[in-house]
Amino acid sequence: MNELVKVNNLAKQYDGQQVLDAVTFSIKDGELFSILGPNGAGKSTLISLILGLAKADAGEILLEGKKLNSDSTEHKSLISVVFQNSILDAELSVKDNLVMRAYFYTNNWKEAKKLAKEKLADVQGSHLLNKRYGVLSGGERRKVDIARALLNTPKLLFLDEPTTGLDIASRADMWRLIHQLKEKYKMTVVLTTHYMEEARDSDNILMLSAGRILAYDTPEKLKEEYHCSTLEDVFLAIVDKGMPEVLADSLA
Ligand code: ADP
Ligand code: MG
Repeated sequence: MNELVKVNNLAKQYDGQQVLDAVTFSIKDGELFSILGPNGAGKSTLISLILGLAKADAGEILLEGKKLNSDSTEHKSLISVVFQNSILDAELSVKDNLVMRAYFYTNNWKEAKKLAKEKLADVQGSHLLNKRYGVLSGGERRKVDIARALLNTPKLLFLDEPTTGLDIASRADMWRLIHQLKEKYKMTVVLTTHYMEEARDSDNILMLSAGRILAYDTPEKLKEEYHCSTLEDVFLAIVDKGMPEVLADSLA
């Protein structure tokens, strides 16, 4: 597998607080990559830096071997993101929201309508087409947000906390959908979650806490190494041992 994203020694401060420190890892083409960590660990900040929405204080980010240039059209057509807070308009219907954004890619209303419907079907949301976005449930909104992010058929999709706030059935449903979409579009999917156990089917996991890497490996290897049956226990075992500094340094 080729390296799609390479992050080298990334650091970021906000108001004198070290939000990310010595963060080094890579994301391979076609993998499901999960960034795990409690609230405030730096997960969203890391995504913002990779997307070029915020600037790192130090370190380097390479996309397909090239330095990040978030203004390039190549970058924009390669990547999509769903942040926790939707960018869609609560007052508009799902259809109007999606078609307006699809027009941006097609420059043709008929094509835009077709594209919007196609992506909504991909997230099993066709029945939501004429509903007002603002009345949808949390899970339904998240699906429409993902349909929006698929409009440009990205090669790399970031999902920031796609399951946060959803009930347990909707969370399982969301994971099924993520796996399906990843297969269908041969996408690389990077997601964040603080429900650590959910990430057990990921190809690779990056555990963050207070901006530092606690662990970075496959779920199987992590569980084996720490003699734990769940990822949550792995996290707690690492925190208990108080060895993040050592690990983070060896990874840097
Ligand atoms: P997570 O997504 O893992 O919950 P975040 O990346 O959102 O964590 O935040 C990590 C830390 O950085 C938090 O302490 C948060 O308050 C701080 N932070 C994030 N963004 C900003 C910002 N724009 N300005 C100031 N502090 C920020
Ligand atoms: Mg976050």
